[in-house]
Amino acid sequence: MTERELLYRAAELAADHLDTLETRPVYPQVSVEELAARIDVPLPDGPSEPGNVVEELAAALEPGVVASQSGRYFGFVVGSSLPAALAADILVSAWDQNLGLLSLGPSSLVAENTAGAWVKDLLAIPESASFAFVTGCQTAHFTCLAAARQHVLAAVGWDLVEQGLAGSPPITVLLGSKRHSTIDRALRYLGIGHAQIRVLEALPDGRLDPDRLAAALAESEGPTIVCAQAGEVNSGVCDDLNAAADAVGGTGAWLHVDGAFGLWAAASPSLRHLLAGSERADSWATDAHKWLNVPYDCGIAFCAHPDAHREAMTAQAVYLMREADVIREPVDWTPEHSRRARAVPVYAALRQLGRSGVAELVERSCARARQFAAGIAELPGCQVLNDVVLNQVLFRFADDDATGGALASVQASGEAWMSGTEWDGRRAIRLSVSSWRTTEADIERTVAAFRRATESV
Ligand SMILES: *Cc1c(COP(=O)(O)O)cnc(C)c1O
Repeated sequence: MTERELLYRAAELAADHLDTLETRPVYPQVSVEELAARIDVPLPDGPSEPGNVVEELAAALEPGVVASQSGRYFGFVVGSSLPAALAADILVSAWDQNLGLLSLGPSSLVAENTAGAWVKDLLAIPESASFAFVTGCQTAHFTCLAAARQHVLAAVGWDLVEQGLAGSPPITVLLGSKRHSTIDRALRYLGIGHAQIRVLEALPDGRLDPDRLAAALAESEGPTIVCAQAGEVNSGVCDDLNAAADAVGGTGAWLHVDGAFGLWAAASPSLRHLLAGSERADSWATDAHKWLNVPYDCGIAFCAHPDAHREAMTAQAVYLMREADVIREPVDWTPEHSRRARAVPVYAALRQLGRSGVAELVERSCARARQFAAGIAELPGCQVLNDVVLNQVLFRFADDDATGGALASVQASGEAWMSGTEWDGRRAIRLSVSSWRTTEADIERTVAAFRRATESV
């Protein structure tokens, strides 16, 4: 097999997989042990024909692939891949650019620069903000909060680059009880421990409480970082960002927004009111691999203080032959040194959709979530727990056993897949509509699967 024939074959296998989405179980029905047994052969002593490698790999693994590209995959907040983004990602692999430096990949860098500017425009982030394409929102938090740490310490005369964290003035972090766990992990990476984090009890709907925030800010002296959220992972609720910005205003604290998926509501004229005030933040973290539907992995960090961002991330070495004086060198903005040209699929996705297409994708997902909420609420004992403001639906049945039983039955049916969670100390089910493929019929089929599950219990 020539290399060309092999690439065609791989593309054919990829397309074959996508063709199965309507009919295959959304969650694979083969066990992990069975999958491992197909793969876990002794390390070969010598070479194999590449065509055989790919053929055997696909045959062994494909049955175990979770159909997260399916319109009936509603787990976590995952998203699928738009055709232009998926195809562009194949090119990214073939080109194999290392986007650490301009000199390693000028064409990928110009695509990244335009993609960054386009995303800022869509998400109502100030044009002057710096950005970084990273692996996901977790790393975007790390990047933004490293800039925040740099900035709030500099404001009290502490040079973090020179002096490090040992002996520095302590930083206080204020955040709501419903923040995403990746915030805590980013803080841990940054040397900010639990004792420095003040968790503010959320309002009953899960939003950050602006009064508690204002009171905590009044009590907190010294360097302070506030983390707000656009899109709570269970309910989709967005913090009142104007109220958060009002509370922070004039205190010198840094306001970071976790908008992994929720920030994309800014791209919709009918939903952007949910994010009013977002443009007043100091940093924003989001994902492209969730609601924008580009292949894994891609998150984006934005920072209203480019100097702090760059100081926190820059890499210097003589051999790098940086051209930063001429152009934005990627290595100045990301925690990674070598990296994939992951903004190219973002560029392709945005070219495919255009401004109206992004708005339509977001609005359609929300409409399907509302459709599901209306349908599921008709089932006996079912209670929808959230106000469906975005693409998330949180619901439960009469008691924990009924909730757990219905979820397990639908998951096992292969008709749809979504995950369980806990809400107010009781079991609940969360459905996230974040795929461009989800149709009205997919939602009807999913409600029907729950109907059958509750009838059989
Ligand atoms: C998914 C998610 C994250 C983490 O994003 P990754 O891309 O998995 O790193 C952070 N915050 C929220 C609100 C999320 O939904």
